[in-house]
Amino acid sequence: MEKTNVKADASACAECYSCQLICSLVYTGAFNPLRARITIRPDEICFTDECVETCSLCTNYCAYGALTRS
Ligand code: SF4
Ligand code: SF4
Repeated sequence: MEKTNVKADASACAECYSCQLICSLVYTGAFNPLRARITIRPDEICFTDECVETCSLCTNYCAYGALTRS
């Protein structure tokens, strides 16, 4: 899924999974990257269909500049 308010740059991603941890905590109540609404792959960052369009919380937790508000 494309996000209109988050810009993702997979080339800057350090695969720290902070984005997945905060997303899963907020939306499922547990630290579980597998339940996050963002998927991190070596060369790709994707958002699931469940990702809330108005949300950009994960950008606050990316220390590497791979996720930014657009
Ligand atoms: S924008 Fe919000 S819902 Fe979507 S992946 Fe990031 S934290 Fe999760
Ligand atoms: S928080 Fe940023 S650097 Fe860490 S896995 Fe997510 S996109 Fe990659």
